[in-house]
Amino acid sequence: MSLLQIAPDSEDLLAPSRRRFLLAAAGAVASVTYPSLGIATDFWSQPRELWLTRPATGESVREVYWADGQLVLPGYYRICQLLRDVRINQAVQFDIITLDIARGIYGWLQSFGINRPIIVNSGYRHPSTNAGIEGAARSSLHTRAQALDVRIEGVSSESVARFGLYLAGGGVGFYPGKNFTHVDRGRVRYWRG
Ligand SMILES: [Zn+2]
Repeated sequence: MSLLQIAPDSEDLLAPSRRRFLLAAAGAVASVTYPSLGIATDFWSQPRELWLTRPATGESVREVYWADGQLVLPGYYRICQLLRDVRINQAVQFDIITLDIARGIYGWLQSFGINRPIIVNSGYRHPSTNAGIEGAARSSLHTRAQALDVRIEGVSSESVARFGLYLAGGGVGFYPGKNFTHVDRGRVRYWRG
């Protein structure tokens, strides 16, 4: 299986420090939440599983995309497939740091005993698809496979947004009226839709 690769942009120069920050933040969350369980330090060294579901297609995946310091290709490809532009049915190589942000959210849920998938309203968008979406920024990080619009059954979008801010992996957009939260790996920033 081959996936279209989206060329990295200049923001990727920030990636190493960004990733360290994300890892440290996620570790801090876990240790603050459950100091006695000691799940903080090894969260990111464990296999990184995501459980995602896509209402637009009815598909779900529960796959490990990263383990032992490297990509797990079969799982990664299935996740990329789920996160495809469903309008034109095109999957691309999804940004790993954005998957890590989702993984942080998933781990946060699990640490509270919430065993539910992340519902993905939007993942990768081809620029032509993005252009047809009302209110979407033309340079949206969705077009670079670096953004996700997500919600979790039974968890308020506000809580998801607050945790996203805590992770500080990138941008967080909170859309209370639309019941989803936008997360991306761009500059750390916050807005209300
Ligand atoms: Zn979005």
